[in-house]
Amino acid sequence: MTTQDTKLSSADLMQLENEYGAHNYHPLPVVLARGEGVFVYDAEGKKYYDFLSSYSAVNQGHCHPRIIGALTRQAETLTLTSRAFYNDQLGVYEKYITEFFGFDKVLPMNTGAEAVETAIKICRKWGYEKKGIPNGEAKIIVCGHNFHGRTVTIISFSSDPDAKGHFGPYTPGFQAIPYNDIAALQEILEKEADTIAGFLVEPIQGEAGVFVPDEDFIPQAAALCKEHNVLFIADEIQTGIARTGAMLRVCGDCNCQSKCERQADTYTRPDMLILGKAISGGVYPVSAVLCDNHIMEVIHPGQHGSTFGGNPLACAVATEALEVVVDEKLMVNARHLGKVFRTRMQKFVDKSDVVTLVRGKGLLNAIVINDTEDSKTAWNICVALKENGLLAKPTHGNIIRFAPPLVMTEEQLHECCDIIEKTIGQFG
Ligand SMILES: *Cc1c(COP(=O)(O)O)cnc(C)c1O
Repeated sequence: MTTQDTKLSSADLMQLENEYGAHNYHPLPVVLARGEGVFVYDAEGKKYYDFLSSYSAVNQGHCHPRIIGALTRQAETLTLTSRAFYNDQLGVYEKYITEFFGFDKVLPMNTGAEAVETAIKICRKWGYEKKGIPNGEAKIIVCGHNFHGRTVTIISFSSDPDAKGHFGPYTPGFQAIPYNDIAALQEILEKEADTIAGFLVEPIQGEAGVFVPDEDFIPQAAALCKEHNVLFIADEIQTGIARTGAMLRVCGDCNCQSKCERQADTYTRPDMLILGKAISGGVYPVSAVLCDNHIMEVIHPGQHGSTFGGNPLACAVATEALEVVVDEKLMVNARHLGKVFRTRMQKFVDKSDVVTLVRGKGLLNAIVINDTEDSKTAWNICVALKENGLLAKPTHGNIIRFAPPLVMTEEQLHECCDIIEKTIGQFG
């Protein structure tokens, strides 16, 4: 039975999720039934601007016709072979994505957390077999307030009590330093580099509330890692694929007009690059770890894998999704609209008592609400935004992330700013 057959209302559908689903999320009270470009529609047909883009998975816009075309063509041909056999899509995709991002090799997985786990495994094995760390002693440095996913190992180095509480015992071998603190990284590397295999970092911390580090933090961290023979691992699952105005956030503010050429003066080349989310345009779970041969060669048959990783459907979808980003110059649009958005919001912040600041890069932005982290104000603003036709979600209590699909027009963005200003104005 489909929704259309039974005409279930939004209230009915929320009730079903509540009764039969685990309560591991606290969704905004809106039930989405259709999406197209920058818009989503609820079960009653009301239209909304999507200002979350499924946590930046839908950068190319909802149901992009080219990506859906690739999906349906491949779905009618071959979907899953397992890696017990070769398939006619995987090698072509692997050549495409490695050339696209400039690495020797890729290891394909499905979800972001799986790709992070993969990077951790490769990094540890590299630490023992290439760097010569005594077996069992490899450490990976991470940052406070990180978000890298939800597996037991990943939450073992989370600083969020909800993510971590009562899920122990935890995986050892991780040590946190404060984000954006280059001195702290230098100190630990100078003391303990012999047993440190990698440094895992988000170039902008999205889930934590869109924390943009100092311009030189990422390049300096990469340089320190190089000096100490430590792998610099960039988690670009949320910041990558044009979201912040360049193909990757590690590209900095480089001005490539289409496919990023990764200019040496702005580009920090990670030893390992982790991608997910928008690599498939939100159409299918696809993730990847990219690195060079001297690192990837530590992995041999039987040591890592996934039934669905690298399946033909994923390969066809991801290739088309990346092509769309290049052809539609989404990094250029994200950079331009990001400036328009922050300029307008800054003017609003200057005269508002409700919002204290706006920050971000490209179309990954956030505003901070002038209230405590445990207050309901940001949530109530998001509910009011929903009433006014725009969907966003608070992160960490008093912060609201604004991340629309990158296919938005400037006119649409101004209309969205009107909605945001009008709605927050009601809370003043
Ligand atoms: C979303 C996200 C992940 C986890 O991806 P899933 O597909 O939800 O497992 C990891 N790192 C970052 C930076 C993310 O934004």
